[in-house]
Amino acid sequence: MNPKIRVNIGALSEKSRRSWNIPEFWEDIHYQCRDCRAECVFPAETQRDWYERQKRYIWQRPNRCLKCRKVRNQKRIAKTMMDGRLGELKKHPDDESTIANAILAIVHHHRLNNTGDLQFAIALSRRLSENKQASRAVRDATDYCATHVVGQADRNSTPKMEEG
Ligand SMILES: [Zn+2]
Repeated sequence: MNPKIRVNIGALSEKSRRSWNIPEFWEDIHYQCRDCRAECVFPAETQRDWYERQKRYIWQRPNRCLKCRKVRNQKRIAKTMMDGRLGELKKHPDDESTIANAILAIVHHHRLNNTGDLQFAIALSRRLSENKQASRAVRDATDYCATHVVGQADRNSTPKMEEG
């Protein structure tokens, strides 16, 4: 049987308390993940935690499964990190560590989001000294760029061959 937990209205946020139709009990809510369509449960106990302890707004609901939420979060972090590294690069365009960090951040972002300027990362890697280029992380990153940029070129060239 699904657990039912009596709602402690006094523990809700002020905004929640003002809302209509405050339920009498927290009960498991079933929903489908917006991204992967998995069947999910928003447990009664978690609802109590969200609304009574964390004071979230009572109609704020999870839309995604835990896995998809983590993925989205990681993507967001990768984007923020890349933007930060590129900002540092503008300030210190000749600093090798800054260049290397920018390359790594572009590649990390691309691995998660499948978008970003890998050509730029390759161009950056050419500005590093041999020693820095040879470092394990930078080498892996530029290998990744080379593989994916070649992949893009292959896809672009296929239609032309069919035309001929
Ligand atoms: Zn999901």
